[in-house]
Amino acid sequence: MVTGGAGFVGAHLCELLLEEDIEVIAVDNLATSSADSLDHLRRYAGFRFVRHDVTQPMPPSCEADVVFHLASAASPRDYLALPLETLRAGSHGTENALELARRARARFVLASTSEVYGDPLEHPQQEGYWGNVNPIGPRSVYDEAKRYAEALTSAYRREFGVDTAIARIFNTYGPGMRAHDGRMIPAFLDQALKNEPITVTGTGEQTRSICYVEDTARGLLALARADHPGPVNIGNPEELTVRQVAERIKHLTGSRSPIEYIDAVVDDPQRRCPDISLARDVLGWEPKVDSEDGLRRTAAWFRRAPSH
Ligand code: NAD
Repeated sequence: MVTGGAGFVGAHLCELLLEEDIEVIAVDNLATSSADSLDHLRRYAGFRFVRHDVTQPMPPSCEADVVFHLASAASPRDYLALPLETLRAGSHGTENALELARRARARFVLASTSEVYGDPLEHPQQEGYWGNVNPIGPRSVYDEAKRYAEALTSAYRREFGVDTAIARIFNTYGPGMRAHDGRMIPAFLDQALKNEPITVTGTGEQTRSICYVEDTARGLLALARADHPGPVNIGNPEELTVRQVAERIKHLTGSRSPIEYIDAVVDDPQRRCPDISLARDVLGWEPKVDSEDGLRRTAAWFRRAPSH
């Protein structure tokens, strides 16, 4: 089962599983996605979609031996527009997904986030770092929901012996993102392809690591197949400034867009880069697609996407 299976990462994960002949139930309430994102998966006999809000108990018909819990708004634009829904997806939604895993004796994989590290004071971020999060700022609805989800997942492991794992996913990008979801790469690509100004927040010297979605999906599957509880960082350790990402996108799209600097975002992390030693050691996983190649593939998809 993949909760949030109609979303950007979820749909890629479903496809990877189906390609491996694994039956998949995607559960999603389509809060930040559309059923169209599943069209290409319907040709697989092993695929089933259940429209359901995970903050409500899971339908009894849903059985699984692995539960990937991805259901949550994830882009800042979405979670700032859906603050209470985001908190509930992280709390009630995670509890319902954990209950299903407990009943079915399934392995449970939580899609957590690098945002649990907040604006980090340690660099690069290792799993042992507890983070520097503003608990009451606007982004806290997402960050604290994920931190609570991690706490709940750990409690289910200790209290009920559920076979749980936590993946801390760093910025992921690729085909299938919505142009207007507010995240950096689709926003820059959309602007570059329209020759509109590429708007970089703050000084542009803040750093990000960007991981191609196929690599992220492979990392989640590797974690499901391992017996490690995590948390495990899943991300690309190449650190780029936001200005460098903007320049690369401008270059590879051949765009005439100027790069413009706009106001910084509240509590925007200044440095982001995963230490992925643990994922290399216990999962034998590391990203395979470098940023040049990944951005080129994503730009090619955006060129063909209906909004362009
Ligand atoms: P997305 O918004 O594209 O997908 C999230 C999906 O969850 C959507 O299809 C949405 O409709 C669904 N959803 C939300 N609330 C729900 C609810 N109550 N019931 C059922 N479905 C619900 O986001 P994404 O980028 O695919 O992210 C997927 C997961 O990975 C999220 O949990 C996110 O926090 C995590 N993550 C993503 C990134 C990234 O860079 N994409 C980074 C870190 C963590």
